[in-house]
Amino acid sequence: MIRTCNRSLPAIVLAGFCLLSVGSSAQQKKVWTDAEVMKIHNEAYLIDLHNDIPTKTLVGQNFMARGGGEHTDIFRMKEGGVGAQFFAAYVPASHVATKSSAHHALAMIDTIKEDIVKKSAGQFALAITAADILNNKKLGRRSALIGIEGGHAIEDDPRLLRQFYALGTRYMTLTWSNTNGWADSSGDISNPRVKHHGGLTDLGRQIVLEMNRLGMMVDISHVADSTFYDAVKISKAPLLASHSSCRALCNAGRNMTDDMIKALARTNGVMGINFNCDFLNQKAKDASPATHPDFIAKRDRINKTVKDEAEAMKQVAQLTAQYRANTPRATLQDVVDHIDHVVQLVGVDHVALGSDFDGVSCTPVGLEDVSKFPKLTRALLEKGYTPQMITKIYHGNLIRLMQDVEKTATSMK
Ligand SMILES: [Zn+2]
Repeated sequence: MIRTCNRSLPAIVLAGFCLLSVGSSAQQKKVWTDAEVMKIHNEAYLIDLHNDIPTKTLVGQNFMARGGGEHTDIFRMKEGGVGAQFFAAYVPASHVATKSSAHHALAMIDTIKEDIVKKSAGQFALAITAADILNNKKLGRRSALIGIEGGHAIEDDPRLLRQFYALGTRYMTLTWSNTNGWADSSGDISNPRVKHHGGLTDLGRQIVLEMNRLGMMVDISHVADSTFYDAVKISKAPLLASHSSCRALCNAGRNMTDDMIKALARTNGVMGINFNCDFLNQKAKDASPATHPDFIAKRDRINKTVKDEAEAMKQVAQLTAQYRANTPRATLQDVVDHIDHVVQLVGVDHVALGSDFDGVSCTPVGLEDVSKFPKLTRALLEKGYTPQMITKIYHGNLIRLMQDVEKTATSMK
């Protein structure tokens, strides 16, 4: 049950919310049938802000076959009632050295369009505006959206940013785990061998403003805290954190502190809770294979010696599963706790979902893959969240953010 009446909630939500909080036993004990849960779930048209299946379709894995990805395929997306999906055009940091980041980003955008949207034979329709998403919802179609992961994709050139926008990209994380030429990352911030800027450089600030002018969401997932606060200062549009969780509940540098969540909310931004065990649960994080030198050595050996990328991914996944077999995992309840932490802190208008499915090696017990999203809906209902609140978390907040970003772009033309 939600603990307090949060005064930052809209009046209409607040009324039902506080009624439940003070403890109407009849409502607290409501038993939700599967049919009721699915009706609320489907009406909420869930938008997941981050899925990495394109990394796998790029190397030939089949999204249209059951088991095509580890956590994602078209069948399980239907079972999970996913309304809209931001597919990540992720660019590994290794492309910086070979100056092939933009090439890789283009290839990722192509696999989203060709191997997911086109092969879905009408089950997915590409969306580039909030209105497109709402129209697809009305027509009973799933929406596919494109987000670039890793600001190094633009190779320090705003001209490339404009072309990625023209291809349909609607968010870009300013960094991935690597600091780039214009923004510091949380991933290497404690590495003294990396040259850091102290946040955004002049070019970084110019890129954020150009994203505002174009109407591309400024995504602060993965960035260093200093980059985040610089983005808050410079951006003329609300900010997005497509796949980040709460540092107060799990101390990971990738997660957001309470002060950062409050600052994001003051921009009228939105954060999508990440389902990675290592970002949700401290015990899972502390036991992560990534902390075992032995695991790191074996993983690096596979990546160096196995030439076929799909085969290397499979072997790394098997190795990770071996190490994970007897270590603590996060649970569905952890995801609910992270959502509720944001709601308690800044209200229900600033939280969404950014699963990171097929981009992480450990998913929560109870939320193992995309087919399990309805279990989250049930857990939120049982905690006392109203269907209206769930609708905001699943799609309303993101639609508002996209509309705000689109309006800012129009005002800057
Ligand atoms: Zn990521």
